[in-house]
Amino acid sequence: MQPAEAYAALTTLAREETVLASCSDLLEWDEETFMPRGGVENRAEQMALMAGLLHERGSDPRFGELLSIVEGSDLAADPASDVAVNIRELRREFERERLLPRDLVEEGARVATFGAQAWVDAREAADFGVFRPWLEKIIVMAREEADAVGFSETRYDAMLDDYEPGMTTREVTALFAGLKARLIPMVEELSRPADLPAHVLRREFPVDRQMLFANAVAAAMGFDLERGRIDTASHPFCTSIGPGDVRIAVRYQRRNFAQGFFVLLHEVGHGLYDQGIDAAHYGMPMGEAPSLGLHESQSRLWENQVGRSLGFWEHFFPRLKSIFHESLHDISLDAFRRVINRVTPGPNRGRADEVTYNLHIIIRSELEQAMLSGDLPVADLPGAWNEAYRKYLSVTPKNDAEGCLQDGHWSEGMIGYFPTYTLGNIYAAQLFDRADRDLGGVESAFAKGDFSGLLGWLRDRIHSQGSRHSARELVALATGAAPTPEPLLKSLDTRYRIT
Ligand code: ZN
Repeated sequence: MQPAEAYAALTTLAREETVLASCSDLLEWDEETFMPRGGVENRAEQMALMAGLLHERGSDPRFGELLSIVEGSDLAADPASDVAVNIRELRREFERERLLPRDLVEEGARVATFGAQAWVDAREAADFGVFRPWLEKIIVMAREEADAVGFSETRYDAMLDDYEPGMTTREVTALFAGLKARLIPMVEELSRPADLPAHVLRREFPVDRQMLFANAVAAAMGFDLERGRIDTASHPFCTSIGPGDVRIAVRYQRRNFAQGFFVLLHEVGHGLYDQGIDAAHYGMPMGEAPSLGLHESQSRLWENQVGRSLGFWEHFFPRLKSIFHESLHDISLDAFRRVINRVTPGPNRGRADEVTYNLHIIIRSELEQAMLSGDLPVADLPGAWNEAYRKYLSVTPKNDAEGCLQDGHWSEGMIGYFPTYTLGNIYAAQLFDRADRDLGGVESAFAKGDFSGLLGWLRDRIHSQGSRHSARELVALATGAAPTPEPLLKSLDTRYRIT
């Protein structure tokens, strides 16, 4: 077979697998949004069948054969070409899949299902002991997985590589150390009680009006409602079904405006990335984000860098005030901006503000690394967790449910996932800082309701690049510097130390 022919066959295989996965994504979207309760059993059967078909496709030995024909041929000679990028990434994914023993994968799926159930029960009972045996299994299996796929320095490298390819434990540790050293004193300083009307966001915000406002903001940001939808669900998410079909779901709360609105900005950020990917590359790595952290950078950028800026609210606050007149008539733009940029340390990651958020992530990253290396026996997790919260945030969770049982990631076998949230924040601030300089100050455009300059910059530098580069390389190319926590610290310092 000629290389060109092999590449065409490879494209067909990869595309079909993506189309199949998109059917499963659509079933999942429906399950989260509109499916009646009575549909559960049939949906479980549909999902199981899809998972089986997908696994069959993904491990098709033809992938390996076709890749070998294209690799080393003239077709893939230029490493910067789309073909070479697609081949490189397909090979990387295929190798990881190939090196994982079948029984470990199957056992992983089983443990994730039961582990997630045990976690729910443990959380209800606020008793880590119920979940402990499962977490012990999950850690042992993560070690086996790392040993199977290989790593350069520590097993955690192999875990990270699954979510943030190209990022190492050494680099994450250095980035997080730089953040931590400055965030801990910053939190302490900024969380002194200030005279803020924080309660205003808990006044009455009718949900139907929140939805109208949210859709108008999403459209102004550039989210194309002809190629996407915004619905409601109990858990917010954004999923790309395919080119031209990006689905967002959010949850509005009548008496918590910030919770619904900033989550909407976050999910729209993810959606803008997906809508900015070149449809011609659908089904191939050039049509995908290179990492979770980079995808998260887009959501965090719109949620925080844009959505908490003065320019943004100079444009939207008058409209917000007219829509929710009863609740905001006595609030000035300045007071509102202070309220949405305030620091309140607490035990919960999901409800954390932007400044304390990264400390929640750093705690989880440090603890999962310690469990994986064996430095921290799983049985000692609750104590180590509470100790870290006292040290970093000066708060003490009142029980395990509020402490080490609050997130479900570990119960589903996701070790190495947490750092991608903070990497997203680091990338976001660095990209925004550079865009702001390149465009000569974006906030004056925001004040006019114009976000097209920023979106154009992101389309060009990030969205259209697919998986051409790893996230860290892409951030370096777009900004001229390797990822560093400095822009994030600078932006927090500027926005939260409002005088
Ligand atoms: Zn996100």
